[in-house]
Amino acid sequence: MKKKIYIVEDNEKNLELFIAVLGTLPNLEIFTSITGKEGLKLIQSKNPDVIILDIQLPDINGTDICRELRKLKKFKKTPIIAVSSFAMKGDKERILEAGFSDYISKPLNIANFREKIQKSLIL
Ligand SMILES: [Mg+2]
Repeated sequence: MKKKIYIVEDNEKNLELFIAVLGTLPNLEIFTSITGKEGLKLIQSKNPDVIILDIQLPDINGTDICRELRKLKKFKKTPIIAVSSFAMKGDKERILEAGFSDYISKPLNIANFREKIQKSLIL
């Protein structure tokens, strides 16, 4: 059965890169949004197996989307992975505190990214 992954990312180049990397994984359906508001709404109707959220979005940030999703029973255990260029001390802790399962920093290390996503798809 196909697994579903939902990506919310407002940067077009990053989104293209995510799709290119994830497109190499078998049996995976990819859904995307470029705004937080749309992402938060559509994630709830698509029920993805894994969610990737950019932290810095123009409307609702990824941290708030994650908090909202974690309030819902069906997303309590879904792997939700943050992608962010924040590199300040304590940022990773704040992100994980919001309920994210994992954190990937930009610029993207492609091998590391693919590996983390593959692992979360198995769960
Ligand atoms: Mg962004």
